[in-house]
Amino acid sequence: MAKNWAGNITYSATELREPESIEELAEIVAAAPAVRALGSRHSFNRIADTTGIQISVVRMTGAVEIDTGARTARVPAGLRYGEIVEELDRQGWALRNLASLPHISIAGAIATGTHGSGVGNGSLATAVAGLELITAEGSTLTSRRDDTNFAGMVVSLGCLGVVTHVTLDIVPTYEVRQDVYDHLSWAALAENFDAITSSAYSVSLFTDWSDHGLTAWLKSRVDDFNARPDLFGATPATRPHHPLPDGPGEVATVQLGVPGPWWDRLPHFQLGFTPSNGEELQTEYLMPRAHALEAIEAVRALAPRMEPHLFIAEIRTIAADDLWLSPSHSTDCVAFHFTWRQHFPEVSALLPDLDSALAPFGARPHWGKVFETDRERLLVAYPRLNDFARLAGGLDPGRKFANDLTSQWLGRVTQ
Ligand SMILES: Cc1cc2nc3c(=O)[nH]c(=O)nc-3n(C[C@H](O)[C@H](O)[C@H](O)COP(=O)(O)OP(=O)(O)OC[C@H]3O[C@@H](n4cnc5c(N)ncnc54)[C@H](O)[C@@H]3O)c2cc1C
Repeated sequence: MAKNWAGNITYSATELREPESIEELAEIVAAAPAVRALGSRHSFNRIADTTGIQISVVRMTGAVEIDTGARTARVPAGLRYGEIVEELDRQGWALRNLASLPHISIAGAIATGTHGSGVGNGSLATAVAGLELITAEGSTLTSRRDDTNFAGMVVSLGCLGVVTHVTLDIVPTYEVRQDVYDHLSWAALAENFDAITSSAYSVSLFTDWSDHGLTAWLKSRVDDFNARPDLFGATPATRPHHPLPDGPGEVATVQLGVPGPWWDRLPHFQLGFTPSNGEELQTEYLMPRAHALEAIEAVRALAPRMEPHLFIAEIRTIAADDLWLSPSHSTDCVAFHFTWRQHFPEVSALLPDLDSALAPFGARPHWGKVFETDRERLLVAYPRLNDFARLAGGLDPGRKFANDLTSQWLGRVTQ
């Protein structure tokens, strides 16, 4: 039986189909009573599962088509970011941001609102200028940024159809350097949160929430770099780090201030190596940045309980967007990410308490990770949830793209 990347989910699908053309894909979708698109399987919950057929567009390959006038690139949706970045760079172009790993498919990443970091950087879905998908009855639908409901279509949870191509905004290529600082104290973070999170183009803070404090990874554009002998008391690392405390620094992206292409510095993990640990679970919440310090205190109160089950946590920032189901919808966000050991009962017991601790701050769970948030709270956290449910119901009246998890989240909203 097929499993997700972390091995914690065994899919219930009866088969996996990998069509090679739009026509073949359309035929499969039209004929199937229940169907779900599958990306690179990096989600940690049952979001990509179905009791019917899973479809991967991984074999629907093709060129990266750059429109220099519009500053966009049209790409096959099943490709992984790591498979398009070098071609973009070769032609003098770049994406504004990437997630921590280049291994994820473009369609899968945008469907869940996947993000990187940076106070001025939106999630990866905000780079989407257009989508082409096959809808429930097997027709092609193209949607562009100015179209009605486009803001509802990008972070789709896989509920609107199978995306075949994505048009992404591009910018002129740039170089990035990574500088890591050890021993950042909680007190220094509390006093200088905005200065620290905006001290580079993309900033990630790693911690186990204990009194040991944090490690700061600063990813700076080389054309906008400010040398710092220290970061509010934190000192420059003298050896390469891995996000996990015991991980080998050599397999992470190059640090120690060595400049390199954007695609080889913005992620933490290199395409040729296993990202993170592999045998793990992940949870993440995004919430308004204005609540960052109070929310950190609320999580730190749980630190002793989390400690035996946590590999590492990461604090990042994401700029606001207008996408309906985006976890960074309408507000500049701070994100708290948790990489758990695969201690299923213990982590499952913690999740409701983590959700309750962060609920007062309007925290929104990452759709592709494990969380315990009931629909009532999702409705408050995601004010366009019912609008999205209506959009999905309109495009897929027979609900062939729904599964148990998305039905639980979206409910049965009528048109
Ligand atoms: C090691 C690791 C590191 C991670 N780091 C980050 C990070 O830095 N930031 C972050 O935000 N998240 C991160 N994630 C989470 C990850 O980005 C998301 O779970 C993402 O959705 C995975 O994409 P995927 O291609 O594997 O999609 P899958 O898990 O296969 O599917 C996810 C969703 O996408 C839909 N989908 C897939 N393909 C299509 C398609 N062609 N058309 C329509 N819908 C489709 C599926 O139906 C499903 O709903 C990480 C995950 C791992 C394992």
